[in-house]
Amino acid sequence: MLLREVEYARPATVDEAIELLSEHEGARPLAGGQTLVNVMKQRAAAPDVLVDLADLAELRTISFGAAGRLEIGAMVTLAQLLGSSEVEVARPILAEVASTIADVQVRNRGTIGGNICVNDPTNHLPPLLVALGAAMTIRSTGGERTIPADEFFLGVYMTAVGEGELLTRISVPPRSGGVGDGFAGVTVGKHGTYIVSAAATVGGDGSRVALGCVDAVPMRATAMENRLAAGDLSEASVRAAAAGLGATLDPPSDVHASADYRRHLAEVAAVRAVLQAAERVVGG
Ligand SMILES: Cc1cc2nc3c(=O)[nH]c(=O)nc-3n(C[C@H](O)[C@H](O)[C@H](O)COP(=O)(O)OP(=O)(O)OC[C@H]3O[C@@H](n4cnc5c(N)ncnc54)[C@H](O)[C@@H]3O)c2cc1C
Repeated sequence: MLLREVEYARPATVDEAIELLSEHEGARPLAGGQTLVNVMKQRAAAPDVLVDLADLAELRTISFGAAGRLEIGAMVTLAQLLGSSEVEVARPILAEVASTIADVQVRNRGTIGGNICVNDPTNHLPPLLVALGAAMTIRSTGGERTIPADEFFLGVYMTAVGEGELLTRISVPPRSGGVGDGFAGVTVGKHGTYIVSAAATVGGDGSRVALGCVDAVPMRATAMENRLAAGDLSEASVRAAAAGLGATLDPPSDVHASADYRRHLAEVAAVRAVLQAAERVVGG
């Protein structure tokens, strides 16, 4: 289907992009276009102005910030995460998970910012960034604010990025000694959409486990995290910590899985993600 007629702007700076977004009520940022253009073709979204972020070089960088944090520009593509030496050093799970998203075209065009701003509950990166304890920086004409990933995702296709605002940066703490990361789940087909996913970080200040596809936003499995706090990450202890997790969830039923099956998968995925994280704990 052809696109509805739409105004197009290609700003050269972030400030110019923010000006455009705040001036036009119906303006939307265009990143890789892998989701936005599809929903526009389906007439599920009809922005009046597309503000193309393609020329904003400052949003395409990956660097180290204070305390060795990984600072990732919102326009960094999924493919860029795979090739980044900074990601490999600081948080290789980001590249590992990005490598399993869809196909080469989607990874070459799709961006980390677009992946999380769309907050499709089946997307890979929202639960991962919650488990990693990432923080998101949002800019508007009024200034800049940084919020934790736990507060970024508000609902299906809804995030803390408001009208006239732009996500500029994702900041991820480095994997310090004693910390390990894991990701597991069940997809429709090999590189397909997740039915349920789970991301885990163990060690450090405590374990974090985030589930995808069981609610509108990534869900922290806090009861399981508390039970893991004892520090015993043997398979028996991790399974015991996950017991009953499914019963606390109210996931959707759809063509891919019933709510009951998702409850079951959530426990299985959470256990696998934590055990994988435990196997990968780096020496401290
Ligand atoms: C066939 C196919 C299969 C896919 N399968 C998966 C999958 O299994 N798992 C997965 O995780 N993803 C999947 N995706 C989605 C893919 O990862 C997309 O690239 C991603 O969700 C959107 O990124 P984008 O850069 O293309 O964003 P766009 O489509 O350009 O934008 C998406 C939304 O985010 C907003 N936005 C983008 N950047 C910003 C910003 N900096 N600040 C504020 N708002 C912004 C846009 O306005 C728009 O509303 C799939 C996509 C396709 C086409």
